[in-house]
Amino acid sequence: MKTLGLIGGMSWESTAEYYRLLNELTRDRLGGLHSAPLVLYSVDFAAVEQLQSEGRWTEAGELLADAARSLEAAGAELLLICTNTMHKVADQVAAAVSTPLLHLADATARAVRAAGLRRVGLLGTAFTMEQDFYRARLAAHDLDVLVPGPDGRALVHRVIYQELCLGVVREESRAAYRRVIDDLVTAGAEGIILGCTEIELLVRPEDSPVPVFPTTRLHAEAAIDAALSA
Ligand code: GLU
Repeated sequence: MKTLGLIGGMSWESTAEYYRLLNELTRDRLGGLHSAPLVLYSVDFAAVEQLQSEGRWTEAGELLADAARSLEAAGAELLLICTNTMHKVADQVAAAVSTPLLHLADATARAVRAAGLRRVGLLGTAFTMEQDFYRARLAAHDLDVLVPGPDGRALVHRVIYQELCLGVVREESRAAYRRVIDDLVTAGAEGIILGCTEIELLVRPEDSPVPVFPTTRLHAEAAIDAALSA
């Protein structure tokens, strides 16, 4: 099995989920006491969030590229950026190393297509919902991507940074997300991409009338498939 390299800490609340899922999936696939060989580089999210909010993406990319180099030197054979948003700098990170990077949006889009769906709603940070780096990657898999209106986007973004990344899961926020999901379904969404690695800590399948696509789980599943393939 290949050794995974995780660029995490964005936030550590979801990186902890990655760690749990990767180990559970390995145990399920290999049985017994098997667990996932991996190396984790966990950054200080406060520094990353500041660079994001100031639009200093090249510097943020350099920070993650340094993490990728460290993971490669530590023996990682497949890299994961454990956040949707920071895939904005995925090309910069990939260019810094020779170890392959498993892109989260590709893993997600494949799962949507495997479910036979095309038109999906996307929830995530404002960067993920509004900018092209993520939506265009999904569209390249022939997905038609819908996002909430301005108020819905602001709400989804605020809950991510002010609650979920701090480990706060509130019933009122779950209800608010349900309303945003309902609006996307009314607009034609056949599925909902939980396109932020913390959202699946809040939104469960039963919170949506259509299938949800939890990106942390889908990324972890794709990583284990790749790590176990020859
Ligand atoms: N984990 C989140 C995501 O998947 C948001 C935190 C970040 O900005 O990296 O986008």
